[in-house]
Amino acid sequence: MSQKLVAVKGMNDLMSPQIEIWQFVERTAREMFGTWGYSEIRTPIVEDTALFVRSVGEVTDIVSKEMYTFEDKGGRSITMRPENTAPAVRAYIEHGLGQQPVTRWYYLGPMFRYERMKTGRYRQFYQIGAEAYGPADASQDVENIALAWHFLKAIGIQHVTLHLNSLGDAPDRPKYLEALRAYFAPHVATFSDAAKETFERNTMRLLDTKEEALRPLVAGAPVIGDFLGEAAKAHFDEVKALLTTLGIPFVIDRTLVRGLDYYTRTTFEFIYEPPAGDNALGTAGTVCGGGRYDNLVRELGGPDKPAVGFAMGLDRLVLLLESLGTRLERRPLLFIATMEPELKAHAVKLVTELRMKGLAVDFDPRGGKFKRQLDRALAVKARHFVVYGQSEHEARAFKIKNMDLPDGDPNKEATVPLDGLAEWLLNAARVAPVTTPPGS
Ligand code: AMP
Repeated sequence: MSQKLVAVKGMNDLMSPQIEIWQFVERTAREMFGTWGYSEIRTPIVEDTALFVRSVGEVTDIVSKEMYTFEDKGGRSITMRPENTAPAVRAYIEHGLGQQPVTRWYYLGPMFRYERMKTGRYRQFYQIGAEAYGPADASQDVENIALAWHFLKAIGIQHVTLHLNSLGDAPDRPKYLEALRAYFAPHVATFSDAAKETFERNTMRLLDTKEEALRPLVAGAPVIGDFLGEAAKAHFDEVKALLTTLGIPFVIDRTLVRGLDYYTRTTFEFIYEPPAGDNALGTAGTVCGGGRYDNLVRELGGPDKPAVGFAMGLDRLVLLLESLGTRLERRPLLFIATMEPELKAHAVKLVTELRMKGLAVDFDPRGGKFKRQLDRALAVKARHFVVYGQSEHEARAFKIKNMDLPDGDPNKEATVPLDGLAEWLLNAARVAPVTTPPGS
């Protein structure tokens, strides 16, 4: 027996009725990010493996455990991008964009990480990100954060909390790491093997450990905020003040360190924190993560250009919107049934003309009995139904049935002349939109 072919584990087929929500989120992002001065960058799916090792960091989970890395036929080690900040920086340097005082880019596409799967966590997942290179000023951080905030609102997501921290500048780190290691050292013997390894290889990551047993210890650990230099402190104060000016609420999360090595100064996450009981994301509540990475462009061989950006997980946004009752599937406005073969050409022509006017009209190319075509109209959830028969053809008028109204409703049936059909349908589309927007 031949083996059943299925999608690779952790990688999903995306289709209706969810795909319409994906398209809505993507459309809104393109529109809004463009308005905010970010233009799109599309980088290749694969990059030289060294790019991620040097940027994300060798001892991060992503690089040490989760990358899809393989040799191509030319013997090069290449990696399917686990994130898009490093590829964007690579492109920024490669194309000499450091000449520009400000470059703002957004990206949208699939990322790949070999992670343990659960709700909202997949091996091929999609991110929308926005990166701004050039300005070191706190107003750039806040503009970037505000974009994420207003975007989440624009697509109809409530109950997200902005968590904020500062990781300081590179010179602030060693003193902090020393304090952190001194704090954890007496307890290491009691750690799990995984936690021991984290302690050895990337101590700061203990701060966002998923191990419940470590939480009380982590809660008392020294925080980076107490080790910030003057410049980083002033920058962070300005970020907070500007957020307040813009009316964007935040909580200071002194343990927020994020899982990638390149962050400096501001780091932030948007976490879905609904009122108790309706959390569709379970523990995968982080819908967006970002921050400053002032040294990355230089470290990857480019000019000294500070930068700030975020990445949002599209899969999680769609999951959330769906759980909130968002239904965006397209329903045909009208289904035209024709049982008589000699009228088929007229019906197909009418369907085409109406579609060319932007009206979603459908028919059943199989033809056949009335019942079969009615069933098809019901299956595609057509809002109106009409039979194109000999008498309708001669009278040049249709009796249109509203499929959403019960039998006996006075508005169930309307007689519409062929000449006025397009206008009648346009009006019907206006009165009751085809889709249910989020939050309605
Ligand atoms: P990161 O690049 O790890 O900071 O992640 C940024 C955002 O991408 C997260 O907040 C998630 O919303 C999303 N994300 C990261 N990893 C995954 C994954 N494996 N599956 C789905 N979404 C993810």
